[in-house]
Amino acid sequence: MAGATEELRAKAKELLAGGETTVVLGYERVPGFVYARPLFARSAEQAERLILDPGCVADLSTYALALPEKAAVVVKGCHLRSMVGLMQEKQIAPDKFLLIGWNCPGVISERKVRHRLGERADYITAVKREAEAVVFTLAAGEESVPAREVMSAHCLNCVVEQPERCAFVIGEPYAPVAEEDPIAEELKRLRAASPEERRAFWEGHISRCIRCYACREVCPACYCQECIIDSTRPVWVPRAPSLEDNLLFHQIRSLHVAGYGRCTDCGECERVCPVNIPLRLLMRLLSDRIRELYQYEHGRDPEAPVPMQVYDAGDSEAHMGRPKR
Ligand code: SF4
Ligand code: SF4
Ligand code: SF4
Repeated sequence: MAGATEELRAKAKELLAGGETTVVLGYERVPGFVYARPLFARSAEQAERLILDPGCVADLSTYALALPEKAAVVVKGCHLRSMVGLMQEKQIAPDKFLLIGWNCPGVISERKVRHRLGERADYITAVKREAEAVVFTLAAGEESVPAREVMSAHCLNCVVEQPERCAFVIGEPYAPVAEEDPIAEELKRLRAASPEERRAFWEGHISRCIRCYACREVCPACYCQECIIDSTRPVWVPRAPSLEDNLLFHQIRSLHVAGYGRCTDCGECERVCPVNIPLRLLMRLLSDRIRELYQYEHGRDPEAPVPMQVYDAGDSEAHMGRPKR
């Protein structure tokens, strides 16, 4: 049976040759980088560069959003949620993209890979998942590492669902590496902490933020043409990093995204943060609360209304100290 990469290349060439799309958005491997980079394949020659492996990490929905033409886009389970979330919010028409679902094997974390492989990480030419291990092809040959040591935390317990609503699905489903959510304990500890303890915890992290906005740029839910943070007339949030203004930025972003029930838990914000702030933890605290209150998860149904964007007289007001009507 052909591997996922070969399957994708064949499908991409077929779609391009048949005129069903003029571009296939996927990934290619570039020497010197741990992660594969997005590739806009517009010809059979370019389609030959497409790959599918645990280094294919970036959420392509943010790239797809910028494409003016109809396109075929490779999506993993979690990134399908990003695409569906954008459909829910009428940012993309449901028929604009031809979705190529990929039963992904989980993706690697560059921080973990560099910790484990050191400088050898600059010489990765291929990555594959084999049962409980991730196998890297390096200059000196193959090296097998336990998956738990190099895989992104959000993938460890992911039950990779057959991506639904896709025109095609590539590859067979993989079993998750862990049964437990790796951040469950930390979430529990923070929920049980006092407001003072929580404030100290977040101030410790947020004070390190350099306000590069990489977390905002990569987030599939942060698509506003003009972000309130960038406003200069008036300046709502001063530009220079300070604890007070950093807290304001993170309060605004986390509320607009996870607090409104719009986070798809793709983990991209945490992945790109140069100072390693546990942003996924922050988002999960809010998203989990939305799930409890509204039994809602974003990006599951293109027709579903987003709880914070509709008014329902029966909504719980328990979080405001009032009983449900
Ligand atoms: S969270 Fe699941 S679907 Fe998303 S990259 Fe990880 S294993 Fe794949
Ligand atoms: S990516 Fe990290 S450092 Fe940059 S703005 Fe976001 S939280 Fe701050
Ligand atoms: S807030 Fe982070 S985890 Fe949530 S959708 Fe945006 S990038 Fe993904």
